[in-house]
Amino acid sequence: MAIRNIIKYPEDEETLRKVSKPVTVFDDRLVSLLEDLKDTMHHAKGAGLSAVQVGVLKRVCVVNTGKRHLEFINPVIVKQCGKNKIKEEGCLSIPNVWEEVIRPNKVDVKFQDRFGNCCQETFIGYEAKAICHECDHLDGILFIDRVKNKK
Ligand SMILES: [Zn+2]
Repeated sequence: MAIRNIIKYPEDEETLRKVSKPVTVFDDRLVSLLEDLKDTMHHAKGAGLSAVQVGVLKRVCVVNTGKRHLEFINPVIVKQCGKNKIKEEGCLSIPNVWEEVIRPNKVDVKFQDRFGNCCQETFIGYEAKAICHECDHLDGILFIDRVKNKK
């Protein structure tokens, strides 16, 4: 377990904009990555962290809702509904920026766990928002792209 360096916008934008690749091998290296993401997220006091944010272009992310720790490998949002206006959304890769973002209130997510098992689960509210934010990272999308009235 280790705390990794979180890459930042705008200096590392080139990497942050890349589309991450699907995970096909579920091995010890994947477990190490998941553990490091968890440690790094907690250390930075974040609500979520994607592998791309530590420079690893794999479709892996973790979310911390305060109540539970979630891990997603190859996540796909298969259904979304409702609207949730997030007053102050932020990102560990974009320090000190907080903006209003509209997110779905409910999402159905297909993903794999660290062993490669296929899962599907429904998330609402804060969890839904956090998962949407992290899934965006895997496609090179940053939350500032979703701010309606860009300054
Ligand atoms: Zn982020």
